[in-house]
Amino acid sequence: MNSSQIDTSAYDAVMKKTKRRRFYFFTTVLMYVPVLYITYQINPSNRVMGTVFALWVVLLVIVTFLAALSKCPRCGNYFHLHGMTLLILRTCLHCQLHINADKKP
Ligand SMILES: [Zn+2]
Repeated sequence: MNSSQIDTSAYDAVMKKTKRRRFYFFTTVLMYVPVLYITYQINPSNRVMGTVFALWVVLLVIVTFLAALSKCPRCGNYFHLHGMTLLILRTCLHCQLHINADKKP
């Protein structure tokens, strides 16, 4: 195994981690309506709805931090964070690396 193979596997590992964290973030955002709807069907009291909402907010804060702190495999900076600006885009905010750049033939 030469050094370029080691670099490629490290690159892939970072890219995979960044993609997984993006997936967690978008899944959490999309879960909001179905989760509250199901909760409303089961028990529409303010107490239960409030508890489920608070749990969702806690989960959202966690996945947002994970997504914000995910690294770019090419430039090593935060993929979605530039200074105080958090933008969950499909390209790196520093080097414009596309999230699916590794899928190119
Ligand atoms: Zn980058």
